[in-house]
Amino acid sequence: MINPRYILLLFSLLLIVGCKNDIKPADTNRVTDKTIQPSEQKETTEPPATEEEFPEAVEPIKIADDIAAKWVELSEKDGFTVDVRYATTHNFTKKKIYDCGKCYLHPEASENLIKVQQDLQKRFGYSIKLFDCYRPRAYQQRLWDAVPDPDYVTPPQKGSMHSRGLAVDLTIVDKDGKELDMGTPYDFFGEEAHYSYNHSDAVKRNRWILKSTMEKYGFKGIRTEWWHFSYRSVSYPLDEWIWPCD
Ligand SMILES: [Zn+2]
Repeated sequence: MINPRYILLLFSLLLIVGCKNDIKPADTNRVTDKTIQPSEQKETTEPPATEEEFPEAVEPIKIADDIAAKWVELSEKDGFTVDVRYATTHNFTKKKIYDCGKCYLHPEASENLIKVQQDLQKRFGYSIKLFDCYRPRAYQQRLWDAVPDPDYVTPPQKGSMHSRGLAVDLTIVDKDGKELDMGTPYDFFGEEAHYSYNHSDAVKRNRWILKSTMEKYGFKGIRTEWWHFSYRSVSYPLDEWIWPCD
């Protein structure tokens, strides 16, 4: 049993700490409630008129240095083919969701995806085609507005690994830039896109090359979409940052 005196002591300490946090430097000269006129009292209890009075509640301004440290763009310069379908109408929603198509991931995921690219290049002469990477929350909302069905789109409140900057949709292309046969196109919703579907040996081989190479560098796939992988060694919050369009 804990001695009730200790509980009382702890409670008193918490009360003191709590009170201290309430007192701001300007409060040190404050008058007691008895001396405050009713009109003044009303003023102090009313909610502030503007958000500026709560600077801590305003989203911090994302400066360029911060973005450079937080996001790495994957592009042709690292050997990738970038074909962000949501920046076109060539996607399952038939609507243009992104203002422009770029592929950004957090540094840990980017570094490892570059290793996947180099590995595929070295072993098979293959490279990666990127369909989708980081998806800002506003774009996730647009996707949801276009197709508000949780079977196809993650609700924005829940958030997708894409919105955490750690998921990527991709396939493999050969040295001529031709996509390997993965059994279905990207964003095909049906059993044929499931990893367990009994496709031809050629399809199984191609999927295995993709999956095993991604896993080698810390990415994990999902059962129902052969093209979707997320980097699981780190975690980031859902993000609002939107890449600039040229
Ligand atoms: Zn995905």
